[in-house]
Amino acid sequence: MNKFEKSSIFVPKRKVRDKEKQRELLEYTENISGSQNLRKTVRLPEGESINEWLACNTVDFYNQINMIFGTINLYCDSQTCPSMTAGSKYEYLWATIVNEQKQFKKVSASEYIKNLMDWIQSLLDDEKTFSSQNDIPFPKNFYDIIKDIFKRLFRVYAHIFYHHYSLIVQLGFNEEFNTSFKHFIFFVEEFELMSTSEMQPLQELISSLLPKKKKKKKKKKRRSRSGKIKSTEEK
Ligand SMILES: [Zn+2]
Repeated sequence: MNKFEKSSIFVPKRKVRDKEKQRELLEYTENISGSQNLRKTVRLPEGESINEWLACNTVDFYNQINMIFGTINLYCDSQTCPSMTAGSKYEYLWATIVNEQKQFKKVSASEYIKNLMDWIQSLLDDEKTFSSQNDIPFPKNFYDIIKDIFKRLFRVYAHIFYHHYSLIVQLGFNEEFNTSFKHFIFFVEEFELMSTSEMQPLQELISSLLPKKKKKKKKKKRRSRSGKIKSTEEK
């Protein structure tokens, strides 16, 4: 059993579109993980529907991150982390809709992460988005929804890396945490789920994880480096 599972105080939920299919896909992932090749793990299995694969992995990463945060959330509160930051340069505000207008609110990191997990869970529970019925198609904007989810899940890794990594090491979870993050980044890269600027808070770490990037992607990265460093982003 994964160490995170033992100490999780969250109860991760898994929405199952098709139990047999889910099991099959997860076994596929686990088998390849065993061969220590995370790059292969993230690739779309032959003959598999891309939306099904994105959905299955979204649920899996959501559960992983829930478990990871569950190991440290007693140490992340409004006193220790009064806002959702990734170091001193990046702060994320929580977006809410008030009178049909988007409003951004500064909340503690733990509140931000709770809101985020609730928001993802509501999408997973939404039959129009992640239907449990095989005959109901995925929505047309499914890829955009997935990108939104990954963009926001990334911020949880970033917050933990910047503010709680020593605790993760102390608890002896660093290997699992690093593998989870690496797997996440490989998946993001494989399906182009995030922009370079969105990944900027952990860019150095990502570069060290992914030393062999394609030339085309390097050029893209250089261009974006000229952009602003400090960013305040929405939810
Ligand atoms: Zn924190």
